[in-house]
Amino acid sequence: RHVVIPLTFALIAVLALFLLTVPSKDVNEPPGYTYGIVLDAGSSHTTMYVYKWTVDKQNGTGVVTQHSECSPKGGGISSYAWQPGEAARSLEECLDMAMKDIPRARHHLTPVYLGATAGMRLLNISNPSGSDRILGEVAEKIRSYPFDFQEAVILSGQQEGAYGWVTVNYLMEKFIKYGFIGRWQSANTETIGALDLGGASTQITFVTREAAEDPRNHMTLRLYGQDYKLYTHSFLCYGQGQMLIRLTASLTQFQGYNGTIVHPCYPVGYSVTMKLSDVFDSPCTSAFRPSQPNLDVAVTVVGTGQYELCLRNVTQLFTFDKCPFSRCSFDGTFQPKVKGEFVAFSAFYHAHRFLQRATGIKVTTPSQMDTAVRTLCAMSLSELKSKAPDEIKRLHEYCPSSAVVQILLLRGYSFDNTSFSQVSFESTARGAAVGWALGYMLILSNMVPAESMNLVKAIVP
Ligand code: AMP
Repeated sequence: RHVVIPLTFALIAVLALFLLTVPSKDVNEPPGYTYGIVLDAGSSHTTMYVYKWTVDKQNGTGVVTQHSECSPKGGGISSYAWQPGEAARSLEECLDMAMKDIPRARHHLTPVYLGATAGMRLLNISNPSGSDRILGEVAEKIRSYPFDFQEAVILSGQQEGAYGWVTVNYLMEKFIKYGFIGRWQSANTETIGALDLGGASTQITFVTREAAEDPRNHMTLRLYGQDYKLYTHSFLCYGQGQMLIRLTASLTQFQGYNGTIVHPCYPVGYSVTMKLSDVFDSPCTSAFRPSQPNLDVAVTVVGTGQYELCLRNVTQLFTFDKCPFSRCSFDGTFQPKVKGEFVAFSAFYHAHRFLQRATGIKVTTPSQMDTAVRTLCAMSLSELKSKAPDEIKRLHEYCPSSAVVQILLLRGYSFDNTSFSQVSFESTARGAAVGWALGYMLILSNMVPAESMNLVKAIVP
């Protein structure tokens, strides 16, 4: 017996080592990959993601990874409201690239989904026929390719939030995990919340055990045989681009609709001349619109780099004093207490990255964020240029967008010393972009099934 027991252990160890190091291949696996395409039609631009996975015939699932991505030149599809045909044409460059990127034999098996977000939600309010026309023309364009067109739709804010949450937790293996014996098993772990700051809206989504005080914010997702009770909310007009427009609109309303507008969030040395229509065409600025509008009038916006004043003006874009529930984030919106880890992506990531880059301050606490935003907002445009000469086009935006991030996270969502330290700012995870696109494809194509099956996945060769 003294010899048999150690021998058995040694055998098990060798077997485990073998399973871990030698990639196993399902005998039924078709040669190569299967592909899927998602067009993320955002307010400021479109991004096309090509995903790929190997198919395990036994259970139909596989590990999805990002194969490539492509951003066409020009603005988001909603920016072509008055240029028929241009929204569709803007997608050609990337769809042509997908034709080369994906093996020809796979083209007709490749599903394509186009999801439009808050830019199109806003256009659907201000110009519904324009938004319908754009959706129709982009669908027609995708159909003209040999891929397997699925849909071109405007996602609701809830869908956008939930798909972002699915992406984060799929990439971080919070649903199922690859065990050492070569099998996928329930991860049995806490999930990660998702914070998405887009161009026209912002989403917060996390699992909560608190009571659903407002049913509009609650959603149950059944994934791999487990129910996840999500809190999710999307704030339209609180995306980075629309916040900058709202900020200029509120300053313009206060200072008069002509001449020079002083802007405490833009750096000293920055000025821009714009038409009132650039600011007041958006449904997000209707509250600040002049009563007798001649939106062709030009104003010159001049930066003064005053942090305190900037923060006050940004704060005024939120309503903190009315709450019909036991607790609210802002604008009378119910929100349970934030709990656990969060990943903050899209413009949250860009603002955080630049804050650290320009100031040299590591931002992991609320007070570090305050100091960093204060330092950044005091920098002149020439100082910013010397610190980040490769970002000339966006330099003036970072003070106001960092101030928006500060107010949104710390006052809006109430991240405190403890919870803020659990927020990580990311643009990618395990080689894939963090955003709603992957989660959207996973859900729509049943790649994350509701029931658990036997949790065995193909191993990527
Ligand atoms: P999107 O996720 O494409 O909707 O973009 C969200 C916001 O992030 C928009 O307001 C963009 O202007 C901004 N943004 C996109 N890329 C960058 C970047 N590289 N640096 C800073 N901001 C960015």
